Amino acid sequence: MQVLKFGGSSVANATNIKKVTGIISDKIKQDQIIVVVSALGGITDLLLECGTLACEGNELYKEKLQVVESRHLETVKGLLPFTQQSRMLSLVKTHINELEDICNGIFLLKELTPRSKDRIVSYGEFFSSQIIFAELETTGLDVGWKDSKDLIRTDSNFTFAAVDFTSTNKKIGDWIKQNKYAVTVLPGFIASDADGNTTTLGRGGSDYTAAIVAAAVDAGSLEIWTDVPGMMTADPRLVSNAKIIPHISYKEAMELSHFGAKVIYPPTLQPIMKKNIPAWIKNTFSPNDEGTEIENSSPKNGSNIRGISSINRIALLSLEGSGMVGIPGFSKRLFEALANEKINVILITQGSSEHSICVGIDETDAVRAKAAIDQTFSYEIETGKVEPLSIEQDLSIVALVGDNMKSHPGVSGKMFYALGRNGVNIRAIAQGSSETNISVVIVERDVKKALNILHEEFFETTYKQINLFIVGVGNVGSKLLAQLQQQQAYLQDHLRLQIRIVGIANSKKMVFSETGIDAQHWKPELEQGKPMNMENFVQTIISKNMRNSVFADVTANNDIAGAYDRLLEKSISIVACNKIAASSSYEYYKKLKNLAREFNAHFLFETNVGAGLPIIGTLNDLLRSGDEITKMEAVLSGTLNFVFNNYDGTRPFTNVVKQAQDEGYTEPDPRLDLSGTDVMRKIMILARETGEHLEMEDVANNSFLPEGCMQGTVEDFYKELPKHEEHFKQLFTQAQETGSKLKFVATYENGKASVGLQHINPEHDLYHLYGKDNVVLFYTNRYKEQPLVVKGAGAGAEVTASGVFADIIRAGR
Ligand code: ADP
Ligand code: ASP
Ligand code: MG
Repeated sequence: MQVLKFGGSSVANATNIKKVTGIISDKIKQDQIIVVVSALGGITDLLLECGTLACEGNELYKEKLQVVESRHLETVKGLLPFTQQSRMLSLVKTHINELEDICNGIFLLKELTPRSKDRIVSYGEFFSSQIIFAELETTGLDVGWKDSKDLIRTDSNFTFAAVDFTSTNKKIGDWIKQNKYAVTVLPGFIASDADGNTTTLGRGGSDYTAAIVAAAVDAGSLEIWTDVPGMMTADPRLVSNAKIIPHISYKEAMELSHFGAKVIYPPTLQPIMKKNIPAWIKNTFSPNDEGTEIENSSPKNGSNIRGISSINRIALLSLEGSGMVGIPGFSKRLFEALANEKINVILITQGSSEHSICVGIDETDAVRAKAAIDQTFSYEIETGKVEPLSIEQDLSIVALVGDNMKSHPGVSGKMFYALGRNGVNIRAIAQGSSETNISVVIVERDVKKALNILHEEFFETTYKQINLFIVGVGNVGSKLLAQLQQQQAYLQDHLRLQIRIVGIANSKKMVFSETGIDAQHWKPELEQGKPMNMENFVQTIISKNMRNSVFADVTANNDIAGAYDRLLEKSISIVACNKIAASSSYEYYKKLKNLAREFNAHFLFETNVGAGLPIIGTLNDLLRSGDEITKMEAVLSGTLNFVFNNYDGTRPFTNVVKQAQDEGYTEPDPRLDLSGTDVMRKIMILARETGEHLEMEDVANNSFLPEGCMQGTVEDFYKELPKHEEHFKQLFTQAQETGSKLKFVATYENGKASVGLQHINPEHDLYHLYGKDNVVLFYTNRYKEQPLVVKGAGAGAEVTASGVFADIIRAGR
């Protein structure tokens, strides 16, 4: 004998029921079978809504009832041959009328008791089992229908009734002896009490019905057919990388389901475990897949964690007080108070100081729990021995489950570290003494992120995923996207890194996709996006709350730089091509650095100095390895280099500047480069990285640009500049006379930074510098005589993008 249970989505409509009858027909060749079915998917919820609306005096319940009716009528029509429809159609209609009478009564009385709720929802399983029975009959099978209310006896705790196994097992035993059908269809979920009232076994309880029957008839196996390929390492709706668990022990499966894995109703496995009946989780929509086998022991090889699950809507009750220390009986009284109220305790933790006890319960019980506990401890509260019970809500429990955990130290350490690194705060921790489970309480909005973090940590040793958000897809940004696209395979093969582009924005549009934006075809996706709004963009990154999030700022925008602190506080790493943050006030720069440290995120801005050249990285490597910087000398402006490499006194200086602008080397306002302001920013950033507390006004600027050039607009500047040709010519010839070249040099020494034009002779390391190259000379304790030189192209979209790219990878590792 085999017992097969089909869930709500498996029997949601005619098409799906056809698949179910196909599965049953295949099985029948092997064995006698009992089929337990849920209501058509969504019907139980609809029926409960009817009851609630009627009770509220809202006539909309009639419309909902019509939906219930038409769902069933359509299913019958889609399933049964025309000639055999009428019996079923009238059965549905008759019972819908009955149901309507019940709802009318509720509407008039404005009262919906748990008992009437059970009466109402029981129609769901009644209809589905009748329809499937009729369909199986039409295929010519030897099939019967049996009412579970006649087989399963419970107490009268409506909506969540407890099974009386002695009576139930006897009823099922007596029935099965004379049941000769090859297939018998039973409605799941419903039962009856000693007075014959309809009861139910709790939401999702059809699984339990099937297991109760399987145990009572000593079935060879129990198969639970559902809409997922098996029991998975995490809920696939929340963790897209979840994998099937081929074998799992009863204990592990029970633990996972108790902690929220909805695929099995928690009490289901108890009756079959006692009899060692194996259970299978199978996929109705892919019946040939192996699925999951649940049996006595779990495999010892592979991961020591079998799965991860979560429960939402948890309230944490904390009873605290110095009066509790060393006095026995406090916990007993606390749990008695909860038990008397029939409140289920999901998690317990107690500090070793005995100063407090924390209990996790369902949020809906919180108010009752507080009243009961405060009442129980009223004397202690009045005399100040304990505090009134405190309640925290909107919490969730996340549980790691695995039988083999106990023999592997370090699981909890790894769990807490992974969560902490991603900014998920743990409110409470519990580990059962059986060590099959470690659970943590966190805020509900972090659940999806936490599940994905832990899944990656314990099941995805293969890849690490970075969730990337990019603002600015102009010159540099679009090159960055092209490089990301090109390097995808390399990163996966060599660094085991997957970069998923979750958000992109330019100044006009923004677009998000949690499954990833195609780095090759991002343009049309962005065009279809929503209007860009920086605040919304930042808020969306924060609210998506994804693990390993990296924000790349490829703009020169002030507001964006001003949002870094809010992102870092959420453990989102920042990669800034934008120089504004690192060169703003020292206070903000330092704040960002500290936030990054505090929240385990990165704040990286390698491209702020010398584009893609590894300047900041080299500086930090020197410092971290214990070297000391004595002096830095650098040429850091591509524009100024271009200008002084091309100006030879023969053609006007103005023309050379114009050419630099036309060829795209300058900032939109070339004075930012010519005045030395940009170089000041860069040397200040380098100095700050060595630990120097420096502001812009502390950097001396020996500017060569006459005062008059700084007034007015860019247009005014180009009018003013030719008036000073003589000045520029003089600068050039003075240098030429000493055999030197003009270079705009930034220097940092003895805590002082300065920038200005210098005569550089041919022996100097800065002399041979061409095009838009940058160079930095690091004089350190280890590089005393000959400096460490970093030199190369210091501008250009391609190299800048590669610098941003490298920072993104650094942030992710
Ligand atoms: P049915 O209607 O067939 O009883 P349920 O909706 O009750 O189906 O249970 C199946 C659902 O359980 C899946 O769609 C899945 O989203 C959810 N689920 C939660 N945790 C897990 C898990 N660890 N493995 C598989 N499914 C899970
Ligand atoms: N139909 C019931 C519910 O939705 C029972 C079940 O599907 O298992 O809860
Ligand atoms: Mg279910």
